Amino acid sequence: MKIVRYLTDPGEPPRWGRWVEPNLAERIRGDLFGEWSLAGELEPIAKLLAPVQPTAILGIGLNYRRHAEETGGKVPEWPVLFLKNPASVQNPGDPIVIPRALPAEEVDYECELAVVLGRNARNAPAERALDFVLGYTAANDVSARDWQIRRSGRQWCRAKSFDTFCPLGPCLVTPDEIPDPGNLRLGTRVNGETVQDWTTSDLIFDVPQLIEFLSADTTLLAGTVILTGTPHGVGMARQPPLWLKPGDAVTVWVDGVGELTNPVV
Ligand code: ZN
Repeated sequence: MKIVRYLTDPGEPPRWGRWVEPNLAERIRGDLFGEWSLAGELEPIAKLLAPVQPTAILGIGLNYRRHAEETGGKVPEWPVLFLKNPASVQNPGDPIVIPRALPAEEVDYECELAVVLGRNARNAPAERALDFVLGYTAANDVSARDWQIRRSGRQWCRAKSFDTFCPLGPCLVTPDEIPDPGNLRLGTRVNGETVQDWTTSDLIFDVPQLIEFLSADTTLLAGTVILTGTPHGVGMARQPPLWLKPGDAVTVWVDGVGELTNPVV
């Protein structure tokens, strides 16, 4: 099932529903992170929102073999974890805003498979890790490379936490439609030109291994979003580098999930 979060009217609170058509949903009653059911009634979607408001966003760096190579890094021995501010989430279609108060000139895209946990996880073994997954979506882990590399003290959180730097969507796909998250194509287009196109079969640490690692002695709250890493082809590794600029349109896509497009302002 494809689940969307949306407004039926600008003044109404957000709702979840089963995605029926681009502008039509079957309403979900209840709590997506508890008990819920399909209400049977169809309603128009006035505006699509990011499918979840995360309780936490855990990002994984250097998790594709070819991307680790292009950055000149070694294949990591353990997953490389960073945190991204939950308030950095942006809706499908809404803009990625280049920071101004803290100017950033090297803003980059990263297409990623995002995993949403449906219930709290702690010490989840890899064999049962997918039981905790509510669904999958596409993410753009937007990153200001100047703040990530030269002005960071080797911490990535500042560079990846600016408002609008985490577009999510367009929908949440339940695991029955994605039985193997380790075999999905994903990619990025900037102004229609393909800049990333790869497969999650190149992941160094797959989704079950990541959940086991991240939940070890650590409570991951329901609603946690795990960004599983980006494949090669990021703007900073291109010659010359390709930075996002006002007027651009960025689309990230994941097979089975769909396309997530955001303008840059
Ligand atoms: Zn990333």
